[in-house]
Amino acid sequence: MPMPSGFRERLLPLLPGIAAHFGTPFHVYDEMGIRRTGEALKQAFAGVPGFREYYAVKALPNPEILRIMQELGFGFDCSSVAELVLARQLGARGDDIMFTSNNTSQEEFAAALSDGGCILNLDDISLVEKAPRLPDLVCFRYNPGSVRSGNSIIGAPEEAKYGVTPAQLLPAFQKARERGATRFGLHTMLASNELNADYMIKTVAMLLEVIEQVGRELSARFEFINIGGGLGIPYRPEQPVFDVEKLGKEASILLHEFAQRNAWQPRIYMESGRYMTGPHGVLVTTAINHKDIYRTYVGVDASMSALMRPGMYGAYHHVEVLGKTPGPQDPVVDVVGSLCENNDKFAVQRKLPKVADGDLLIIHDSGAHGHAMGFNYNGRLRPKELLLKQNGVVALIRREETLADYFATLTFEPEIFQPLAEAPAQTS
Ligand SMILES: *Cc1c(COP(=O)(O)O)cnc(C)c1O
Repeated sequence: MPMPSGFRERLLPLLPGIAAHFGTPFHVYDEMGIRRTGEALKQAFAGVPGFREYYAVKALPNPEILRIMQELGFGFDCSSVAELVLARQLGARGDDIMFTSNNTSQEEFAAALSDGGCILNLDDISLVEKAPRLPDLVCFRYNPGSVRSGNSIIGAPEEAKYGVTPAQLLPAFQKARERGATRFGLHTMLASNELNADYMIKTVAMLLEVIEQVGRELSARFEFINIGGGLGIPYRPEQPVFDVEKLGKEASILLHEFAQRNAWQPRIYMESGRYMTGPHGVLVTTAINHKDIYRTYVGVDASMSALMRPGMYGAYHHVEVLGKTPGPQDPVVDVVGSLCENNDKFAVQRKLPKVADGDLLIIHDSGAHGHAMGFNYNGRLRPKELLLKQNGVVALIRREETLADYFATLTFEPEIFQPLAEAPAQTS
């Protein structure tokens, strides 16, 4: 099942009470599930010395969730100024932060290099000179081009805007060294929502091959490889879970072989977002309308402002009706929000137990790229976030947006630019 059984056993009995107390809609996350996934990840990589996960902040940028990551010993993968601020507010400094931006601005460089710095992951060879200065430790994002096929979701590396090419890699590191870098790392991100561990194992092997060769040409030892995020989760009931034990075991074997050939070895870093939190969150919403036209529609009190993935990618999210079990006579319905956008649908032509107004619907796997991706089109506001804590209490960890938030950017000092007034005086 998409929602882990422990989460469902902890949450479902409490759900009517939580909904009555906080009101719907809301995302609710499961602290115990997140911690267990984090511990299992560390266990899987126990044979890889110095392994570290850098949680991809964009997946669920809430300080309470990031604090759990920190307690697990994880760092943070940031790619914007706001994400840097979030990580630093929790005390993350230097090697705790991997800054993986692309199309990087001077403002972003300044933020990345200040306040205790970070591991700077450069997306292009031209940025070596554009960065105001380089930290000791510099990493490049690698784009292998046609050497790798990319997975089916993220597409072909040759069409992706990210990274430096194989031919640019050695000159990039040489330039970085000329500008003062003394320590090196190599990063890539080729997959998204990949369920096959073999794909990620190939990525480990690829990065090890590259640093072996480039390291020799540079006469340098790389401190780490970062295999990126992209580990998948089973959104559909029939899909398997990602075999993280296999990935850890194979990575440790590849690393051992590397060490035997080279008499040194890098650490392995990862920056998973979805895998860490995706299954440990659900969006809870109340059915408010029922409509029978050419199709049957169940209208709920959440919209795609709360969860973009179905509307944006046609992504499947499992939907369950609290207290009702699926049966063979179930009607086929579309579950819809209120946006004036026909793709504002959480489920399309889905068999669901007959829904009555007031029923609670649980939309699974909203723990990553859910709330964070929401938007305000059509004046739709984002819902609150709750955390089911290990001790059984449920805490509000972000309030819902209000109309005051929506109108906040309309409060400003009047300002005009008058082209004629500022032009040179006319002579005739
Ligand atoms: C989005 C992103 C991630 C996280 O991806 P998941 O699919 O959530 O694991 C990691 N690294 C980079 C550079 C990303 O852009």
